[in-house]
Amino acid sequence: MFQQEPPTLGNQYDDDRMLRSYLSRVCPTEVLREIEPSLKEMGHLAGDELYQMQLEDRLNEPTLTQWDAWGNRIDKIEVTPLWQKAERIAAEHGLVATAYEQKHGSLSRVHQCALAYLFTPSTDIYSCPLAMTDGAARTLISSGNKTLIERAVPHLITRDPVEFWTAGQWMTELTGGSDVGLSETIAKRSESEADTYLLFGRKWFTSAVGAQVALTLARPEGNPPGGRGLALFYVETKDEQGRLRNIEINRLKDKLGTRKVPTAELTLNGTPARLVKGTTDGVRNITPLLNITRLWNGISSVALMRRGLALAFDYAKKRVAFGAPLSEKPLHMDTLLGLRAETEAAFHLAFFVAELNGLSEAGEISETDALLLRVLTPIMKLTTGKQAVMVASEVLESFGGAGYIEDTGLPVLLRDSQVLPIWEGTTNVLSLDTLRSLGIHPSEESNKLAVLTATTTKWLESIRSPVLVKAARTATLALEHSSDWLREVVNGDPNMLEAGARRFAMTVGRAVELTLLVRHAQWSEDNHQDGTVTASAQRFAQSGVDLIIDFTNYPAA
Ligand SMILES: Cc1cc2nc3c(=O)[nH]c(=O)nc-3n(C[C@H](O)[C@H](O)[C@H](O)COP(=O)(O)OP(=O)(O)OC[C@H]3O[C@@H](n4cnc5c(N)ncnc54)[C@H](O)[C@@H]3O)c2cc1C
Repeated sequence: MFQQEPPTLGNQYDDDRMLRSYLSRVCPTEVLREIEPSLKEMGHLAGDELYQMQLEDRLNEPTLTQWDAWGNRIDKIEVTPLWQKAERIAAEHGLVATAYEQKHGSLSRVHQCALAYLFTPSTDIYSCPLAMTDGAARTLISSGNKTLIERAVPHLITRDPVEFWTAGQWMTELTGGSDVGLSETIAKRSESEADTYLLFGRKWFTSAVGAQVALTLARPEGNPPGGRGLALFYVETKDEQGRLRNIEINRLKDKLGTRKVPTAELTLNGTPARLVKGTTDGVRNITPLLNITRLWNGISSVALMRRGLALAFDYAKKRVAFGAPLSEKPLHMDTLLGLRAETEAAFHLAFFVAELNGLSEAGEISETDALLLRVLTPIMKLTTGKQAVMVASEVLESFGGAGYIEDTGLPVLLRDSQVLPIWEGTTNVLSLDTLRSLGIHPSEESNKLAVLTATTTKWLESIRSPVLVKAARTATLALEHSSDWLREVVNGDPNMLEAGARRFAMTVGRAVELTLLVRHAQWSEDNHQDGTVTASAQRFAQSGVDLIIDFTNYPAA
């Protein structure tokens, strides 16, 4: 009887030409020699033990036990065996720590992101608590709050699994996740404990609710409404006996995907909390956390895309149709190569933002790069999130019916990808943030986009391969069109500016991706005689880079 050979994974570092080629360009030989063993080890875990465990863990989900046998409210969360293992591995392998140990200066962030990229697809979104932990460490450090830094940061960035703490981020309330200024949680000064506030309110989405600490927003009594009136607070979720500190877990969300992530609705009923930085401007003060979680989001997007492709390319060699393996069918391979071009483009943008973060954290960032970091963070998050969903959907189709069947372990790729454009700022919200990052106000033309285009022009100066010159031209034209569009609408109907914000941000995102891809392709041709990246760049250049629509009037609904 016929038996279908399933797709398998090898060492996920060794098998990843895209990652290895990129690292060999950005890392000096000595650095690459030092970081490679850790990447090989993670690549082995991800392709072997963790992947097998992930398949076996498929039906397990986190549980919430609200009451014990004797009627006591306990609100105990238990995560799945894979997540328990993932926490230990994450600590031991320095999934957060690597960025803070700074062993390789600004490249420490790239090293950490490469580890996260390998780890993420085999651990069912354990990247979520890690992203928030990393973001909390960065936020506390940049707050300058010595007491909290000394208290929490060593736990957040340790490699010792026993000492390791994870952090949550409680922002979204029922009133709004995008418009957090509407938050209703109140902070009252504690009468018994100095420097302590008691929080009262309801948090509507709190992922990885088992975390030891959380950063959250609340309005100190008497503060004005809106985002400015919120303050940023630090919460330790449990007391010495392991009991939740006046926090009730009302229920776990029943979600489309990320089902291993215990995402809860919470009631804060006098939860003790400390101010992180001042009694106002909480939304501004939590920005360092969001920048880091958005970086993790981008890295997770490319990690899931790459996992889907690794499985799809392997399966194409094993599945026979019409007398030959799918890998010999031109149309099937053309489909996969289109996905590879999307993945490769997204990869270079996500890792470029990692490089910029690294420069900033090492105190080596130039004024131009700081501007690029601000502008490209939302653009990278929104562009790669959308690409991840598209690629995951096509990956499932490339398996035919098997892609739709749960015990292949494939459908989860699509479900988990679908969250990437939603959390940490939706596509539209980040498109508007992109305009803010460029300092766009009617009647005030920003030159920040000009800084970005000057940078991409410089990258493209050394492109010589004719195919790449042509692809580079597509990127340049798309960026010029973006600038022209912006110039035209910025002084006109504000509705036109807002309505076009997503198309603008996506165009800039795809054009910058193409520029980075072209730059890497030329380098690969010159240094490795490798034309694969060139093929991806050529392909990506013809896959819809310029998405701007030139309406003459604001379109009616
Ligand atoms: C699995 C999961 C886990 C999550 N975990 C957490 C967590 O740990 N902590 C946390 O704080 N939050 C978390 N969230 C919440 C998430 O960040 C929010 O759902 C998200 O920010 C959107 O907020 P909302 O759901 O209130 O949607 P809304 O803000 O109501 O948005 C609805 C729609 O309106 C659009 N929109 C909003 N404003 C504008 C505008 N001005 N112009 C154009 N379009 C607009 C949005 O793009 C969206 O499509 C999680 C969400 C999910 C799905």
